[in-house]
Amino acid sequence: MESILKVEHVMQKYQALNGEVMALQDISFVAMEGEFICIVGPSGCGKSTLLSVVSGLEKPTKGEVTISGEQVWGVSPQVGYMLQQDNLLEWRSIWKNVLLGLEIQHKLTDENLSYAESLLKNYGLYEFKDKYPSQLSGGMRQRVSLIRTLAVRPKILLLDEAFSALDFQTRLSVTDDVYRILKNEGKTTLMVTHDIPESISMADRILVLSRRPAVVRFVHDITFPNTCATPLSRRNCPEFGRYFNEIWRELDVQA
Ligand code: ADP
Ligand code: MG
Repeated sequence: MESILKVEHVMQKYQALNGEVMALQDISFVAMEGEFICIVGPSGCGKSTLLSVVSGLEKPTKGEVTISGEQVWGVSPQVGYMLQQDNLLEWRSIWKNVLLGLEIQHKLTDENLSYAESLLKNYGLYEFKDKYPSQLSGGMRQRVSLIRTLAVRPKILLLDEAFSALDFQTRLSVTDDVYRILKNEGKTTLMVTHDIPESISMADRILVLSRRPAVVRFVHDITFPNTCATPLSRRNCPEFGRYFNEIWRELDVQA
């Protein structure tokens, strides 16, 4: 496996009314192609800031981010971003929503249209393509939002608390769906969550951040037996509790 994303000594300071706020102190890590990395940390420690820097929406005060060896400089089409709200446009059909990113990037080619169509087919949404977002459940909306993000073929997916607006049952099944889709499509994913079980159920690796200003305090390689290959089944594996206790203690110590 090759590395695709490098975050090197990223520091991020903000100017606030009462002086400077240092959100990120010194963050470095590498993501391998196809890897699913979760970032957990106390509220306000700088998790969303880190994703903004990786996406190119914010330029780091110090340090640099490279994707496939190229420095991230402004918003990059190589990166897809998914937030807590699905941000679907209520007045556009599901199909038109899925095409939004391609439309904005002027990439409505036959090849891209058929890729978007195949995503809808493969992930059980094709029959809903002429419906409107309000006619879909919260879980389906989140899947449409993911497909819209994937339609422009980003190399890296960023998920910022993407499931926290969903109720617990929906959330469990959506994490299963999203995990399957991202692994099938071979995407490298960086997901921020405050939910430790959610991170253990999905991640190949978990980075535990300190309180603000954030540094990477702990790193966990997450491995499960083949019998626990999905987020839902991981939750029933004995290893799950062990990871939970370790990470919970690491977060708790700093509270
Ligand atoms: P998290 O996502 O971990 O909850 P954030 O990355 O949103 O944390 O924020 C980290 C810190 O940076 C917080 O103290 C927040 O108030 C501050 N912050 C975030 N964005 C800005 C900004 N644009 N200007 C000033 N301060 C900011
Ligand atoms: Mg946040």
